[in-house]
Amino acid sequence: MLFDDTFVFMMVYLDDEKMDMAGNKYPLHGHVIAQEFSNDVDIQKGLYGILWGKTDHLIYEKLYSGHWAILKVEKNSELICIDKFSNRYKFKTGEIVYNGIAWSCSKYIIQHQNDPEILEEAKYLKIEDLVGSKFWNKKRREEKKTLTTVPSIEKLSAKNDPNHWTKNVPQIATKEHCSIPWDGGKNGKYFRCNLCGHKFIPGDQWRFLYGLNKCRNLMVCGQCDDKDENLRDKFSEIEEKYSWIWREQH
Ligand SMILES: [Zn+2]
Repeated sequence: MLFDDTFVFMMVYLDDEKMDMAGNKYPLHGHVIAQEFSNDVDIQKGLYGILWGKTDHLIYEKLYSGHWAILKVEKNSELICIDKFSNRYKFKTGEIVYNGIAWSCSKYIIQHQNDPEILEEAKYLKIEDLVGSKFWNKKRREEKKTLTTVPSIEKLSAKNDPNHWTKNVPQIATKEHCSIPWDGGKNGKYFRCNLCGHKFIPGDQWRFLYGLNKCRNLMVCGQCDDKDENLRDKFSEIEEKYSWIWREQH
């Protein structure tokens, strides 16, 4: 069954060669389809972007170099949430409707937020929340004074390093881990066990659970740690309570 308002706008960052981080080369206009696609949170297999261009921070994207594009993407089961809180999604295919720099892309989204095929939620977008707009830049400059570095996607992939902290192996929290603005929380505010809520301090054992949960990456402390399949069950059991806690934090 077809609905007439089933599309979203994804804002995508491309490098100087018009390539995204998974190595998909983008044409100037027309359709683009991922070379490889998997129905999971693996960001190397699919196209990747910021839903509506709305996010509080950039991860690997750059404001003043490379290119930005707007894709019109159908909302279906191949539109997969990678990180709910930074509003990053992966998807299989889309139609390029605009190319430009970040702020002109944001302007395009606002100009087309009432288009008939576009999902209703677009009507509530405000330019100041979209990447590259004047207000967004100002807000970000202020935050930058207090924030330490955000882990980049290249680091998150860390394909060549079997001992990297994203490899889901138990490890000891370092000072650096404790100061990363996970999910945008300054000075490691949200560097916590997602089961018991323990806030990690240097020396604690912890484990990163990349892709265990559909919508975000999770962390678990040494005491709560268990086999992945058991953890997955535990997380879904407490999902309701847990999302309440999460809303309170944000
Ligand atoms: Zn715990």
